[in-house]
Amino acid sequence: MKAPKLFIVIPCYNEQEALPITAKRLTALTDDMIERRLIDPASRIVLVDDGSRDETWRVIEGLRAEDGRFEGVKLAHNAGHMNALWAGMTLCADRCDCCVTIDADLQDDVNAMYGFLEAFAAGADVVYGVRSSRKTDTAFKRNTAQLFYRLMGRLGVEMVYNHADYRLLSRRALEALLSFGEVNMFLRGMVPMLGFKSAKVYFERGERVAGESKYPLKKMIAFAMEGVTSLSNKPIRYVLLLGALCALLGVVMAVYVIVSLVRGHTVAGWASIMMSIWLLGGLQLMALGLIGEYVGKIYLETKRRPKFILEEHLWEGTGDGKP
Ligand code: UDP
Ligand code: MG
Repeated sequence: MKAPKLFIVIPCYNEQEALPITAKRLTALTDDMIERRLIDPASRIVLVDDGSRDETWRVIEGLRAEDGRFEGVKLAHNAGHMNALWAGMTLCADRCDCCVTIDADLQDDVNAMYGFLEAFAAGADVVYGVRSSRKTDTAFKRNTAQLFYRLMGRLGVEMVYNHADYRLLSRRALEALLSFGEVNMFLRGMVPMLGFKSAKVYFERGERVAGESKYPLKKMIAFAMEGVTSLSNKPIRYVLLLGALCALLGVVMAVYVIVSLVRGHTVAGWASIMMSIWLLGGLQLMALGLIGEYVGKIYLETKRRPKFILEEHLWEGTGDGKP
């Protein structure tokens, strides 16, 4: 097999301290890969400046001037981690054989890419980088992350445990992913939906080489909310369920109220108020849940996701998926 053209996509937000170190490591890595004929010499490293406020773009310009292997794109404003990744992937999809996305801070072990390429050569379209331990994370981050993975599982979202956004996608997996029309994205929940053959490569997660985390608690909570609301309609269904439960309880209450009324234990007006509170409350919640079901459907429609993703075809053709 010919060595694949690998594009490495790196989102960078205020990474002026980390980027020079990361770039050096990646130059050495790709040099070695080219020498060993694991990747094509036309492979590239795509640096996406996500509207940084520091000197990140200057650093990227400098890297590009020194070495044509580096490519740079600058987003006009801070679009966020997911959107920066999307931008990078969009810009390399029709030029690469496979693409790896990795953070700019070297927390993910770059040597795992050897494993990625091996799995890719063995036929995997998606290779997940999985943290074998979270020793370097704080206990708080570790526990909340664990809780989050569990919650997502409950909500019916398929996710790879302890995998963030360090992964390899083959060109066709990349093209399939990019055909998802949604604006609110949570990539690590979307990739498993592709359904291609996948593999996992484990690595130890290290410390940030330089600079600070660009994910403060506020951003992390927003990110988790995005994960839930962009991938699952279940919370709406729970409202419907709760409404049904309240309505049922309302019926029980109605019996109790009528019995009390007949027995004459009640103050005037109590019975009617009690019954309306329970029955109406339940009915209202149910109606809300029902409307929610439709809103959820509209939400899914607006995403314009592909209805199917082609893996193979057995017809004479040009190989671009068209007869
Ligand atoms: N990042 C980005 N835009 C943002 C926030 C972060 O492109 O608005 C990038 C950042 O430069 C880094 C990656 O996303 O390459 C992950 O961020 P970070 O390492 O700070 O997150 P953590 O590892 O602390 O969760
Ligand atoms: Mg990091």
